[in-house]
Amino acid sequence: MVKPDLDAARKLTLTPMETKSVTRNVTLTPLGSLEELTQALRCLPGVGPKAAQRMALHLLQHDRDGAQRLSRALEAAMQAIRHCERCNTFTEGELCALCRSSKRDPALLCVVETPADLFMIEHTQAYGGLYFVLMGRLSPLDGIGPKEIRLDRLLKRALDGVVREVVLATNFTNEGEATAHYVGEMLAARGLTVTRLARGVPVGGELEYVDSGTLAQALRERRALSG
Ligand SMILES: [Zn+2]
Repeated sequence: MVKPDLDAARKLTLTPMETKSVTRNVTLTPLGSLEELTQALRCLPGVGPKAAQRMALHLLQHDRDGAQRLSRALEAAMQAIRHCERCNTFTEGELCALCRSSKRDPALLCVVETPADLFMIEHTQAYGGLYFVLMGRLSPLDGIGPKEIRLDRLLKRALDGVVREVVLATNFTNEGEATAHYVGEMLAARGLTVTRLARGVPVGGELEYVDSGTLAQALRERRALSG
């Protein structure tokens, strides 16, 4: 049994002066629920206080049906969506549709940082293997090491005896490169073929407008012209 905290209870009792000032403040500030909604919307990326307030007011004033739908969809998604047992991406069942598919090449495993990266690669229709989603990247400065992004799970997945080649498709940021390097060494040491996405000149890109880092990389990673 927790003893009631009498001091805390006493603190909550307001003097007549305080009650008066609180009442005055309430009339000047937004209602509790509106403030709560505005604050909640700020969890979205790139949404500051003003944008959050605009969204909240828009939903209340112009789109209450949309707001109800949003609320139901959020609730349902939070209940149903979890991580795929094999590839760690988001899914509703134990395994995601890609891991369940018999049309994918199980000898190829592509490592990406996020489900969004997986969608981008799928969108190219140029890859027929399976994936592993890190749900992050190594970032020692932020205290994110191999343990934090559960690289042991990737290791277990890659060493299933079927995977032959691991394609590292982490971002070309410092952290993405560091992650690719670490994962590459870890898997190559265990006998797997490890490849990294090539960097290059964008399709339709003119050399004049390509940054020198990308151009230098494209030169280094030049390949034999077939035919
Ligand atoms: Zn999966």
